[in-house]
Amino acid sequence: MKKPSNIIIVGAGLSGLYTALCLDKHYNITILAKTNYEDSNSNLAQGGIAAEMNSEPVNLKTHIDDTLKAGHYQNRVEAVKVLVEEAKDNIELLRKFNVTFDENSIGELSTTMEGGHSTSRILHCGGDATGKTMIKALYEAVMKCENITLLQSVMAVDILRKNNIIYGINAVDLNKNMYTFYANDIILATGGIGGIYASTTNDPISTGDGIAMAYRAGAIIEKMAFVQFHPTAFYDTKEIHPNQFFLISEALRGEGAILRNIENEAFMKKYHQDGDLAPRDVVSQAIHREMYDTWCDYVFLDTTHLERKKLQKRFPTIDRFLTIHGYKLGENMIPVRPVAHFSVGGIFTDINGETSIPHLYAVGECASTGVHGANRLASNSLLECVVFGRRIANNINIKIQKPSIKVPKNHLVVNHDYPYGPVRKKLRHLMDEFAGIVRTKAGLLKVKDELLNMEKSLKAYPNNTIAYYETINMVTVAQLVISDALNRPESIGCHFRLD
Ligand SMILES: Cc1cc2nc3c(=O)[nH]c(=O)nc-3n(C[C@H](O)[C@H](O)[C@H](O)COP(=O)(O)OP(=O)(O)OC[C@H]3O[C@@H](n4cnc5c(N)ncnc54)[C@H](O)[C@@H]3O)c2cc1C
Repeated sequence: MKKPSNIIIVGAGLSGLYTALCLDKHYNITILAKTNYEDSNSNLAQGGIAAEMNSEPVNLKTHIDDTLKAGHYQNRVEAVKVLVEEAKDNIELLRKFNVTFDENSIGELSTTMEGGHSTSRILHCGGDATGKTMIKALYEAVMKCENITLLQSVMAVDILRKNNIIYGINAVDLNKNMYTFYANDIILATGGIGGIYASTTNDPISTGDGIAMAYRAGAIIEKMAFVQFHPTAFYDTKEIHPNQFFLISEALRGEGAILRNIENEAFMKKYHQDGDLAPRDVVSQAIHREMYDTWCDYVFLDTTHLERKKLQKRFPTIDRFLTIHGYKLGENMIPVRPVAHFSVGGIFTDINGETSIPHLYAVGECASTGVHGANRLASNSLLECVVFGRRIANNINIKIQKPSIKVPKNHLVVNHDYPYGPVRKKLRHLMDEFAGIVRTKAGLLKVKDELLNMEKSLKAYPNNTIAYYETINMVTVAQLVISDALNRPESIGCHFRLD
């Protein structure tokens, strides 16, 4: 653990692993994962990866237009063009790393539709196991690289700087040991922020650590108000809910599933001309409205008119999960509701993934490349991980390295036990209630005050544990969401102000 490294990558999801594989082999690369490498949002991704494989300008333009439209034209156009135009090359590179995409009966790549896409351009793996398939293949590729070390159960805590030059990070392990990792370049690939909400599809690692670390280091953070709610998380009417909800992929609606309220009314056409395939922000807000009007905590996803065998083959993971919970695709109405899903905003980056701090990069869900605008188009996020991950690697590969600065090892030895469970629970419920799909100034101000109190008491009782640093990060990230939401009195995309 003491070896000096040229490059540190914080995060072993799709963006972290893929970026590592694209960097030149002469670099000494260390990847940190907070828990096991399989714990990530990437591993949970079902539906697929949006990629226009036909490079005719008209096809590329349609994907660009769909992305801009879903993002309410708040996107950075240059970044969207990069995303779409570099998709095909990155899919080909993923295949070289042994990622197997599903094919049709004549050996062509299979594609499907999803909300907001005007053509069928979503590639998928293992039916609905796209993320798992990718992570498995990339992990195996990383394990074969002698220049890459993957350290699991080590949490990055803060970025180290001297005279405004970054030189490494400090980190803590499960035994409360602190480490310093020196690096010329640091790549944050820490994923999303779903963990600050009581109801989310995200893996519990998603506590916004990279965003909080970058913020403390002085990097520009933007668009945090735009938290995307996935319209169709499974709502188990028989059980008390865990924090993490199981996702029912949008691709099911792409294959013909219909949303109905509890009075059996198919309601989406009332809200948008594309009906069930409207962009996510529209669908989540429509479901929220229907739940309110029918005094119910959920609506139904109806697949009863679709062929069960075909659905089983296309969605094996979802089918297995629902069967365990007493529902069958193609036979039963499935209760669903919107929950927090994706962080559109994050650490500002340029089109090469570089943040406002030189040599500090951000990629994947923790980054704000500008591609999503005010609302992400379905399946564009896996694409964002690979397109911008490769750009970061290419950018570092051609750059002359700055000399590394030697600084004494930094040990933090403090210990106070404090029950973080109740703090996290309170924070998550406040975020669900006042910073969820529908927001008001009064509600946001209430959370702001509560967060300030939490911050004060956490800082008064520091503790050298992963749980402590995560909780501090959750408070910081929640504060960033609230302050951005307060600064946006207008409703747009994922951000809906009732007042
Ligand atoms: C249920 C679900 C389904 C989805 N389906 C799709 C889909 O079909 N298509 C699509 O395009 N997108 C989908 N998404 C979104 C997409 O999966 C994510 O946006 C994307 O995978 C994020 O990848 P990432 O590499 O940025 O982060 P993640 O894959 O979440 O990886 C984050 C990594 O960072 C590590 N980490 C975090 N903090 C620290 C720290 N302090 N120190 C050390 N390590 C740290 C974690 O351990 C983990 O290894 C889905 C998301 C979810 C939750």
